Amino acid sequence: MITLTLPDWFVVFLIANLAMVFGLTLYYSVRRYRWMPRHRAPPFIFRCSVCGHVYLDRRNVPMAECSNCGNMNENVKSF
Ligand SMILES: [Zn+2]
Repeated sequence: MITLTLPDWFVVFLIANLAMVFGLTLYYSVRRYRWMPRHRAPPFIFRCSVCGHVYLDRRNVPMAECSNCGNMNENVKSF
């Protein structure tokens, strides 16, 4: 069995904690640069001025085409 003195235990404990903090820092800094999928982007709400159809579009565009009549409409509200 390995016998360690009290300062050795302190050094082992310190290295273990520093390794854990370093690992968590590395994990969260890499996680921040991950690609975010498109379906998480908030949708834009459009209301057609011709037929009154309300529809969603996830693209960040100023106008979107109505699926009922094909009229181009501006977004009403975005989240
Ligand atoms: Zn329409």
